[in-house]
Amino acid sequence: MNKSFTGATVLCPTCNTRWFVQDQPWKLLCVSCYLERKGKTAPAPPAPAPIEPTMLRRLVQLCHPDKHGNSEAANTATRYLLGLKGGQHG
Ligand SMILES: [Zn+2]
Repeated sequence: MNKSFTGATVLCPTCNTRWFVQDQPWKLLCVSCYLERKGKTAPAPPAPAPIEPTMLRRLVQLCHPDKHGNSEAANTATRYLLGLKGGQHG
């Protein structure tokens, strides 16, 4: 017994406040209620991947202004990379 789904916009029966597009037969709730039911509030943004200290040192060496005619780009990149080291020296 398949009902036909036309992608109609329906009122969420759980919260009765939000509308959602029922473009799939299994979509019975709005996204907020669906996430709530799963115990989640919102998807967490992925954490940026850390750069390994060895690689970071290599990048600093490669970007060093001395090797790029003291260009502004090299200075900016080096400063950024040194900032990633978080005050470590060496
Ligand atoms: Zn809802």
